Amino acid sequence: AKEGGRAGFAFFHAGMDEEVRQRHALERDLREAVAKGEMSLAWQPQADSATGRVRGFEALLRWQHPERGPVSPAVFIPIAEASGAILPIGAWVLRTAAAEAAGWPNPLRVAVNVSALQIQQGDFPGTVERILAETSLDPARLEVEVTESLLITDTERTLRTLNALKSLGVQLSLDDFGTGYSSLSMLRNFPFDRIKMDRSFISSLTDSDNSAALVHGILGLSRGLGLPVVAEGVETEAQFRVLQAAQCAEIQGYLIGRPQPIGSFGNLTHGGSAT
Ligand code: C2E
Ligand code: CA
Ligand code: CA
Ligand code: CA
Repeated sequence: AKEGGRAGFAFFHAGMDEEVRQRHALERDLREAVAKGEMSLAWQPQADSATGRVRGFEALLRWQHPERGPVSPAVFIPIAEASGAILPIGAWVLRTAAAEAAGWPNPLRVAVNVSALQIQQGDFPGTVERILAETSLDPARLEVEVTESLLITDTERTLRTLNALKSLGVQLSLDDFGTGYSSLSMLRNFPFDRIKMDRSFISSLTDSDNSAALVHGILGLSRGLGLPVVAEGVETEAQFRVLQAAQCAEIQGYLIGRPQPIGSFGNLTHGGSAT
């Protein structure tokens, strides 16, 4: 087409402008989202693979934008990380999740996603300690999920912070395991209690012998290190059966339950067992 290149460039360029504009708009709206009550938590169960018993719930942040409707965390978390808004938002998530979980039957854990910026800036252990005191949540029931990217930057400080969290009695898990850049030796040096095997391994698990070998390898390695594994994104019975047979400790995914508002687990907070 005549002048296709130029037209294509102009179109591409306009697209980029629009993208930048959208990003700025979201960045601005994010600053007020908590105060305006637009943020909420969805909860996804984690179950023992041998018994099927629910062991805990992961808190997943949800943003209901007044005009755009729901915005995916995959979209807004990176923007909040880049702008620093993740610091107040992350503190809100921790406080809200801890307050909720303090009312659950005792052994249930609450897992909260924490960004590298939260760990690496300010006094994160102090924030956690304050929130535990405010909510009276048993520290052993709080699990902080961090990703591998954290482990390669500012290693000394990160290690100090994670050790300080451990001294509070909080549990630590390594999220999205297998997708990042960390070398396996990191697992030996950092005080993790649990590994979350990334969904990408699970979704290909029943496709080929190689995929199954990889999953068995990760489970073997983790067992050698004494670290229980939570399999993420388990969607089918076939995946579940393989993981159960391989003694993967816990299962999380649509097969067990989708992330839902806490009200959907009504009997959890308003029923039976005393807290
Ligand atoms: P993640 O921590 O790896 O969370 C798991 C994601 O997989 C969630 O997406 C969950 O809804 C989705 N998922 C769970 N089971 C299945 C399944 O069986 N199949 C499929 N296809 N997906 C499944 P979500 O809620 O959209 O969150 C995306 C990411 O956003 C999270 O990934 C996490 O990295 C980040 N995020 C969510 N909430 C927070 C938060 O409060 N703070 C921070 N810093 N990051 C958060
Ligand atoms: Ca997570
Ligand atoms: Ca994950
Ligand atoms: Ca992820």
